[in-house]
Amino acid sequence: MIEAIKMAPCPFCEGPPCVIAHDFMTGEVMAMDRPQTEHFDEAYSAHVWCHSCGAQGPLIDTCSLCTFEHIHDLKVADVMRIAVEHWNGRDSKARNCYDAGEGEGLNVWPRAAI
Ligand SMILES: [Zn+2]
Repeated sequence: MIEAIKMAPCPFCEGPPCVIAHDFMTGEVMAMDRPQTEHFDEAYSAHVWCHSCGAQGPLIDTCSLCTFEHIHDLKVADVMRIAVEHWNGRDSKARNCYDAGEGEGLNVWPRAAI
């Protein structure tokens, strides 16, 4: 049984979030309860998106998880859960990059010609 996890509202409009998963190679929408093949050779991606404004959370895929995080043999539901955790896990970990760019005018559009 899959443990329920509450999804946070959209950070832009506070609209309702949805989560969707795709076959990484074909783009086919994958059902959450899709059984994994015995060879674990399928690749999935998942992301959370806002039903009201279309904003999207980080795209999570099994290829990146395998290569960079050394996480293997995930089911579709596992990838969807990680996508929800990233959607919910907002923090200010990159704020220092934003602040560093402020002095250089990098947070303005259009940026000044260099
Ligand atoms: Zn929204």
